[in-house]
Amino acid sequence: MAGSGGFREECGIVGVWGHPEASNLAYLALYALQHRGQESAGVVSTDGSSLWVHKGMGLVSDVFDQQVLARLRGSGAIGHVRYSTTGATHLRNAQPFVVGHRGGGLAIAHNGNLVNAHLLREELEGRGSLFQSTMDTEVIVHLMAASSRPSTRERLVEALSQVKGSYSLVLLTERGLLAARDPHGFRPLVMGRRQEAVVIASETCALDLIEAEFLREVEPGEILEVDSRGLRGYKAFRAEKHQCVFELIYFARPDSQVFSRNVYQVRKAMGRALAREHAVDADMVVPIPDSGVPAAIGYSQESGIPFELGLVRNHYVGRTFIEPREQIRHFGVKVKLNPVRGFMEGKRVILVDDSIVRGTTSRKLVNLVRQAGASQVHVRISSPPTIGSCYYGIDTPTREELIASCRPVEEVRDFIGADSLGYLSLEGIREAVGGKAGEFCMACFTDDYPVEVPLEKPVHQLSLFQEM
Ligand code: 5GP
Ligand code: MG
Repeated sequence: MAGSGGFREECGIVGVWGHPEASNLAYLALYALQHRGQESAGVVSTDGSSLWVHKGMGLVSDVFDQQVLARLRGSGAIGHVRYSTTGATHLRNAQPFVVGHRGGGLAIAHNGNLVNAHLLREELEGRGSLFQSTMDTEVIVHLMAASSRPSTRERLVEALSQVKGSYSLVLLTERGLLAARDPHGFRPLVMGRRQEAVVIASETCALDLIEAEFLREVEPGEILEVDSRGLRGYKAFRAEKHQCVFELIYFARPDSQVFSRNVYQVRKAMGRALAREHAVDADMVVPIPDSGVPAAIGYSQESGIPFELGLVRNHYVGRTFIEPREQIRHFGVKVKLNPVRGFMEGKRVILVDDSIVRGTTSRKLVNLVRQAGASQVHVRISSPPTIGSCYYGIDTPTREELIASCRPVEEVRDFIGADSLGYLSLEGIREAVGGKAGEFCMACFTDDYPVEVPLEKPVHQLSLFQEM
């Protein structure tokens, strides 16, 4: 199973401070972040004297209703949507994670993956810590509890100075909201304002939805604090940027501004570069929706070959990849996409997608497009071959399951059954993304990991008792 070696999550987070409808705004923002996690959702609010908590399994629309939201009182709130690949798909692992802390409450919502969590946990358990979940995130609150620093912010800094890996997080107490982004800035995190209220979110599309003005990114290594004394920023750790390039390729929503870039424009530029690198004579450019659409538009514009919607997506099915089990993922392609019959008959089709992971999607769709009558199917991928697993928060399977990890392109082409296969080069990606060399983590394409990953501990040793 994907990620069976560690805690790997893709998540979306939001924080709102200083608005009478804080929990409603957090809830709405979670709708805009739903693509980042569909397994569980939660909101914690505060009215200054208590924390109010609601979490559940499923989509935002499954978890919340008006009655629930009315109970989430106060002018501060944080929210989370989660997807994990560990199999620990239990409500116990839903976030925000809430604990009692120094006579009050403390809630935390985390997007990322702490690569040394199991080592820290072992140490903490040795000193008497009792863990409630199997989440890496829980380590942070235990480290905070063990800290002797006087303020919540300082305790958070002390805790974060001990963790390695990726984190974009929001933390709520009765008195204030904190936000932090790891020194590498692996995962995105942005700040905005809605009148007096401060809003923190994984992506700007969440700010757009609740009509908050985007001010800036939370900087790598920065901690933001907002309370009755206003908003303050602290450079807690020296930044060493390694932003996740896969956010720009696949994960973030195309209408978001991520790492100071417009995701849609970057994806289109990748498609243009792909057309230059792998030109082919054909009748139409067809995207694999939705993720392949912007790159296909770029490919079409650069090559002059018409863009056509040859495959139609059923939007009521979750992302293939988000289904936790192999059998369902396999099956998911058919549930999700259907060719427009008659339309591709006798035509030479260029199929464009953002990435090939296991090869399941491309293989199924090449076959589907052939069945729909295409005379040739040329697959074009707007990123380089995925050869390495991600340890910093994106759900990729183990190296052995990555089809390109130990096969040349020609073998991948053969496996997916395409007439030709072309991947965007590393240089092509760098150019489309822009900025300084080294500002991005490209470990999944280069095998060059910016943060060392300690040996993983088998997950079964970390599992909790089973509840029925
Ligand atoms: P494959 O079928 O080759 O295993 O996966 C490729 C498809 O999965 C592509 O259409 C791509 O858009 C999508 N995908 C690539 N990476 C990820 C990921 O990290 N998470 C999710 N949910 N989907 C992904
Ligand atoms: Mg896709």
